[in-house]
Amino acid sequence: MPKDMTLPKALNLIGGDWLPAASGDEMDVLSPIDGEVFTTIAASTAEDVGAAVKAARTAFDTGDWGRMTAAERGRLMQKFSLRILDEAEALAQLESRDNGKPIKQARADMIACARYFEFYGGAADKVHGEVIPFMTGYNVQVVREPYGVIACIIPWNYPAQMFGRALAPALAMGNSTVLKPAEDACLACLRLAELAGEAGFPPGAINVVTGRGDVAGKALSEDRGVDFIAFTGSPEVGQMIQIAAAKNYIACTLELGGKSPQIIFDDADLDAALPLIVGGIITNGGQTCSAGSRVMIQEGIYDKVVAALKERFEGLEASESGEDAILGPLISAKQKKRVEAYIDGADAPLIARGKVRTGAPGGGYYVAPALFGPCDPRSKIAQEEVFGPVLCALTFKDEADAIRIANDTEYGLMASVWTRDGARQHRVAKALRGGQVYINGFGAGGGIELPFGGVRKSGHGREKGFAALLEFSQIKTIINNHG
Ligand code: NAD
Repeated sequence: MPKDMTLPKALNLIGGDWLPAASGDEMDVLSPIDGEVFTTIAASTAEDVGAAVKAARTAFDTGDWGRMTAAERGRLMQKFSLRILDEAEALAQLESRDNGKPIKQARADMIACARYFEFYGGAADKVHGEVIPFMTGYNVQVVREPYGVIACIIPWNYPAQMFGRALAPALAMGNSTVLKPAEDACLACLRLAELAGEAGFPPGAINVVTGRGDVAGKALSEDRGVDFIAFTGSPEVGQMIQIAAAKNYIACTLELGGKSPQIIFDDADLDAALPLIVGGIITNGGQTCSAGSRVMIQEGIYDKVVAALKERFEGLEASESGEDAILGPLISAKQKKRVEAYIDGADAPLIARGKVRTGAPGGGYYVAPALFGPCDPRSKIAQEEVFGPVLCALTFKDEADAIRIANDTEYGLMASVWTRDGARQHRVAKALRGGQVYINGFGAGGGIELPFGGVRKSGHGREKGFAALLEFSQIKTIINNHG
């Protein structure tokens, strides 16, 4: 660990104050790089969560935050964005240590986090209402209002990006927020919240409560003071969140991962496709909701594409998260065990396996990447989200076959289509189930402007882009009978 790294204290941010958990309990934080405990966080309970929700409510109802104009909110968010960029290197070092991700990825994540506050800061005063022509003597206005208190429950794979993705649109619309980051990686979120205070966010606009999902997360999802929940994580917990939201009659967005296909037709530009096929599954160790974990190859070019992928996979190496790292350790011992169980028990032939770098710290959670194929489209490895550096190669005959196989999972988040045929590009993109489809590309750098979200087991609701502003606000129709 760099000697000059300043670690956040084991405290929650509640109503502008940094406080220990009411119980005084803390939890260890391990680095995935070497498996060693290097700091602690507050292990919060319902008591801390309740205090955070109350602080958010006060900020929204009667505090300085609730009184700010949209233009003031936007200006503040843009100021915060610049502050994030100023601190980007220190934040990236912290995130890399906490999450294990390669430092280059952590740097890119900080730029994306800053961009969320820049983009939504710029948009804050640009969401306008409308006037509806109605009966004589009436004036009808439709206005868009914040919900109030938004609970943001986020995962460990991209803590800083998720901080921006959930909080920036919620704040832009004037909501106040309570963030429950993941216990496996939340230090960058704590530091970002501190920077937000320094940038001038009034007390209670952003509250952060750390701790276990089944304690602090559960309490937050069930708190009756919450008006809307934004959740990203596993389908299993997503289902619990939706049930908790339903019990309080509130709405939620769920972003739950996927089994996203990259479809390569036989006229594709393979030189362009291959790096993005590999990058699409290796980025962040495959621990990405939108990872391209199924590569679907038209049968005439299957052998050629698989031979090229085999060569690339055999050259891949999981290593410590330094300057030259492409693939770091996975997040935890639990995640490593889960991914290795998928690899060891795979119901498809192994084509290639990468390596773990000799000398990588023994206690770290390193997994050598794996390529399987040809996989039966209904096989477990081709159906379930592994959330690790595991790519499944499948084959298909023609366009109809490609669409059928691509849509034949419970998920539907993202997809890509590689073909030079313009008409086919549109036909296939329209037929694919999911919230985002790339044509001759994949997963371009954060895509803050681009609406994103899933269907069925991938979740519902749309984040990013202007869509998130609509998601984090509600319509009120004001009907004035002026005679
Ligand atoms: P998880 O769903 O348990 O955790 C996500 C967030 O929810 C964390 O902040 C966690 O503390 C919180 N949480 C956990 N239990 C909760 C509960 N009962 N009530 C409220 N909040 C709760 O995810 P995980 O266990 O960290 O990962 C398991 C699997 O989920 C992964 O292997 C992967 O397949 C998937 N996952 C998907 C994403 C994604 O971006 N879609 C992110 C992380 C994990």
